[in-house]
Amino acid sequence: MARPATVTIDLDAIAHNYRVAKSQAPARKALAVVKANAYGHGAIDVARKLETEADGFAVACIEEALELREAGIRNPILLLEGFFQADELADIGRHDLWTVVHNQAQLDAIARADLSAPLNVWLKLDTGMHRLGFAPDAYRAAYRRLKALPQVRSLTLMSHFTSAEDPASPATRHQLERFERVSRDCPSPRSFANSAATMTLPEAHHDWQRPGIILYGASPFVADPEVQAQLKPAMTLTSEVIAVRELRPGEAIGYNGTWVCEAPTRVGTVAMGYADGYPRQARNGTPVLVNGQRSRLLGRVSMDMLMVDLTGLEAGVGSSVEFWGRNLLANEVAPWCDTIAYTLFTGITRRVHRRVLG
Ligand SMILES: *Cc1c(COP(=O)(O)O)cnc(C)c1O
Repeated sequence: MARPATVTIDLDAIAHNYRVAKSQAPARKALAVVKANAYGHGAIDVARKLETEADGFAVACIEEALELREAGIRNPILLLEGFFQADELADIGRHDLWTVVHNQAQLDAIARADLSAPLNVWLKLDTGMHRLGFAPDAYRAAYRRLKALPQVRSLTLMSHFTSAEDPASPATRHQLERFERVSRDCPSPRSFANSAATMTLPEAHHDWQRPGIILYGASPFVADPEVQAQLKPAMTLTSEVIAVRELRPGEAIGYNGTWVCEAPTRVGTVAMGYADGYPRQARNGTPVLVNGQRSRLLGRVSMDMLMVDLTGLEAGVGSSVEFWGRNLLANEVAPWCDTIAYTLFTGITRRVHRRVLG
């Protein structure tokens, strides 16, 4: 390995986190959400790690599902957005995938389809997200229609929370009430809970949880340590110091000189940049660990490098730098970049050397 930029994926941590999710409602089932390449952790590696214990997996689209089937994953796989074109139904049938139905066009396509075997359908209700799903008025008719189709083997009712990670938001209560009211006389299994609801909202556990971000060791409750304490961070992004210089007060660092030294400053240049997935939006002062010691970003992140403060630290060329992971939570770094752990995880690019543990 030459350039030291490395992302380390700890699959044992992900297995631990899946068990934490399951333990919230041991009698119910949980789909491990592995869309977007398992939030950047490697969908095939994660699915292989979990295949003996996961009740199923959830992905965004058929391309992501087929990648898992081709890797030999036999568990149920749910397409969270269903299919985009009717010709996907052949592969959905052939590979025994489960599909969301969120609109009339998908429902009509199933009704017209000549399938070799009937489908497992998750019928989505829009309880307030206003992104996907049937409106409450149309939901029951869609349910009855699907129930009567020979192309449908089983139905599961689902919806998605807008704000379950915010205990102060009244939206969660409203969404739950709408879900219960609209689906009252639809006798089928249900699924509502994302990570936040899985961890804190037993009334939303229903039959299937859909944990995503917690599998990767980041709590959806950014400011609250309680959930985080149960999780193990699965992705650690590291690199090394490749150059060191001593600057005098008044000297500026990096593009556009957005950091000007107020005191004599020892600056380390690190092989990590926005083309690796470290956000360019990271502000001066964003925390980093240098040889395990807390330090901070100085100046603007460039494409391939960034600068950190080494003043007073035991550090030099070759010192290791952690940007987030086992010892520095992505949830602590994300607000410095005006974002959330989800985008940090999914943003790592293929230039970064990948190391998989467990
Ligand atoms: C991504 C997604 C999830 C998982 O959300 P987390 O916040 O990562 O737990 C669950 N359900 C649906 C429909 C999703 O799109």
